[in-house]
Order: sequence, then structure tokens, then C-alpha cells
Amino acid sequence: TSFDQMGIRDDLLRGIYAYGFEKPSAIQQRAVIPIIQGRDVIAQAQSGTGKTSMIALSVCQMVDTTSREVQALILSPTRELAAQTEKVILAIGDYINVQAHACIGGKSIGEDIRKLEYGVHVVSGTPGRVCDMIKRRTLRTRAIKLLVLDESDEMLSRGFKDQIYDVYRYLPPELQVDWLTEKMRSNNFTVSSMHGDMPQKERD
Ligand code: AMP
Repeated sequence: TSFDQMGIRDDLLRGIYAYGFEKPSAIQQRAVIPIIQGRDVIAQAQSGTGKTSMIALSVCQMVDTTSREVQALILSPTRELAAQTEKVILAIGDYINVQAHACIGGKSIGEDIRKLEYGVHVVSGTPGRVCDMIKRRTLRTRAIKLLVLDESDEMLSRGFKDQIYDVYRYLPPELQVDWLTEKMRSNNFTVSSMHGDMPQKERD
């Protein structure tokens, strides 16, 4: 498969090629299409195999940049990862004029408020700060159509689970799928398959 065959919009393709990518990596080939078709996907791959770019690509394909509402939310366990994801989204999405913002602890809350009130399409953040912004009603969740839990096994098995669940409960009901709700409520989350049987069987 090439990027051209994946149903990706032309202006996003330009950004991908301008960024220097020629061919999708294995995880990109397998995960991007089901994600942009609106399916629930668990993707697992070694680090350095194109996961962050896979997230960035899918997010950019799914946002409607003529609207000013937040449409994609990416939660990451570290500030560095959240910032890196924002950077890749802005780079790949250069030609679609995507507005992304990293909502991370340790940075100025004033800057978050200013950006979010101006209007962004994508928020990439750490659970605590994102939750804070939602509770202040600065981050509006009603138009969110894509939730990404980066390093989800790590996040759901460590101290973040309550914060993530807090965020999750503010999301539109369509995003709160039974299998994920159960995963969040149970105490032993493990990622066992790459967009395997579980989510798709239960959703389709
Ligand atoms: P990631 O796992 O997304 O952080 O990607 C790891 C490294 O591989 C980064 O330097 C990316 O820019 C690069 N990369 C990701 N996807 C591709 C691709 N399809 N073609 C070439 N390089 C890529």
C-alpha cells in the first residue's frame, strides 16, 4: 500500500510527502484506514515504528478545519510525548491549516485558555491538565469524534487511570464504548492484540 491508496485527502498527502515520508510503515498501513473509517482500534508496535506519525495522520485526516471546535483528543502519559505528537500533527498537517495545542502540566494555564478560546481542532495533552481544562469549560468536548490513548497500557495501569476516566466521562456518549468503559473500570488492563477481535467485534 502507498499513502495515495489510503483514502487520505490531497492536501494532507502533500504534507506527508513534504515531511519526507514516501511509504507508510507497517503500523500505518494497518491502523490508519480503520481509524479514519471510524472504527475502534487498538494498535500495538515497537517504539520507533511510526506510531506517533500514525496518530498524527489519522487525526489530520479526520478533522474538519472549517470548524473551530476541538474534534480530536490525544492523551499521553508524559509531557514530552504530548508535545511531540502536537509537533508532528502541525508538521504533517501544514497544508490543511490544522490548529493543534499541547495541553500539558507545567506550562502556563493562561496560554491554554487563550489557545482554546481562539479555537483549536486537536488537543494533545496529559490527563491532569486536560481534565482541568474540561472542568473549567475551556476545553469543550461536544464535537470530539476521536479519542487516542497513547501508550494506553502504561497509562491505564499506572496512576493515571482515575484522571483518564474522569476525562472520558465528559466525552460524547458515542465515544464511550462498552468495551473501553469496562477496561477502565477493571484493574488489569493489558493490550493483547493489534486492532484484533475485541473492539471490532463488539462495535460492528
Ligand atoms: P514515530 O514512531 O512516529 O515517532 O516514528 C519514528 C521515526 O520514524 C520518526 O523519526 C518518524 O519521522 C519516522 N517515520 C515515521 N513514519 C515514517 C514513514 N512512513 N516513512 C519514513 N519515516 C517515518
